[in-house]
Amino acid sequence: MLLLIRSYRYPLRPTKAQEAALTTWLAQCCDLYNGALHERRDAWRKLGKGVTLYDQFKSLTEVRRTVPGWDEVPCEVARSALRRLDLAMKAFFRRCKAGETPGFPRFRSKRRYDSFGFGTNPVVIQGDRVVLPKLGYVKFHLYRPLKGKILYAVVRREAGKWVVVFQCDIGEAPAKMPIESIPEERVAGVDLGLTTLATLSQGKPIENPRHGAKAAEVLARRQRALARKRKGSKSRHRALVQVQEAYAHVANQRLDTARKAAVRLCRDFDLICFEDLNIRGLAGGMLAKPIHDAAWRLLIHCTSCKAESAGKHVVEKDARRSSIDCSGCGARVEKTLRDRTHSCPVCGLVLDRDLNAALNMKNRALGRSAVRPPATPLVTAEGSTSAGP
Ligand SMILES: [Zn+2]
Repeated sequence: MLLLIRSYRYPLRPTKAQEAALTTWLAQCCDLYNGALHERRDAWRKLGKGVTLYDQFKSLTEVRRTVPGWDEVPCEVARSALRRLDLAMKAFFRRCKAGETPGFPRFRSKRRYDSFGFGTNPVVIQGDRVVLPKLGYVKFHLYRPLKGKILYAVVRREAGKWVVVFQCDIGEAPAKMPIESIPEERVAGVDLGLTTLATLSQGKPIENPRHGAKAAEVLARRQRALARKRKGSKSRHRALVQVQEAYAHVANQRLDTARKAAVRLCRDFDLICFEDLNIRGLAGGMLAKPIHDAAWRLLIHCTSCKAESAGKHVVEKDARRSSIDCSGCGARVEKTLRDRTHSCPVCGLVLDRDLNAALNMKNRALGRSAVRPPATPLVTAEGSTSAGP
């Protein structure tokens, strides 16, 4: 039994007054985070002892009672800053223990402190409004239906705008069909690429929309405008938000493309085989930018998530030699990157290079090396001539 947790992210539409409150809360959370970090650092350096999350919860209660202004921040919102610091400290000590050399958690700037949570008290939504502590009803843009039971909510500032993220328990995952009983036409091998985002072993390919490349000009212009502004000025902050908006727009477009492709794949197939990108080593090189723009990993991630709630299988297989092997007979047909066609001298199979690779991925998903076993006629011809002692 597997319980599915899904995040739903919506644009928040606070009123001017609500927005002012949210901005204040963020600033206060940031101060609290930095103050708590200071306390932990000093306690460690001067006294050699640790401060726990609960020690800091206690101090927070004291602060909320005595310092003016702090009782206007909901308790759980303030606590979320302390929880975040606690996670950062735990991650730090865990990595120290593991023999790594992590950097000590750092103080955060107000510009980079962008979100807070509402603890484990579930928030309530009514229609397209969410009830937040101390603020009451806050409108949000419910552009797609929210399913399941809300476990946790986070409010975040993204490129000068506000979003709300609900983490929902959407119930038990549907049972999956056993892999052996999936008919062959419901199995898809996927070859990820740049000319097309994905070539499928059957069916129409998924186009590569190149969102980043299309937005490059706007981005460059805004980056230049930002670079001209004086540090700390108001107009610099405006220019920064413009740059953030351009990046956020591209990120939203990529996510949209990936989600739509994922829905399509999970509708058309029961078993989807991607290449294991960890093996490929995508780090650098001159293709780093277009590969990043294509967002292959995002596509695999979205498809895997969608598959879990649709009872479909997603597997990742080693894709080495997937463009060299013949998908028909398994023979090796060497190619350069320029060769766009696969043409097999052994079995005579001629098809598009990417389609051949996708068919190989499908073969690998089905645990076979080729559609037919290695070409028997050639072996017997050779075998008969060299037979006999
Ligand atoms: Zn062949």
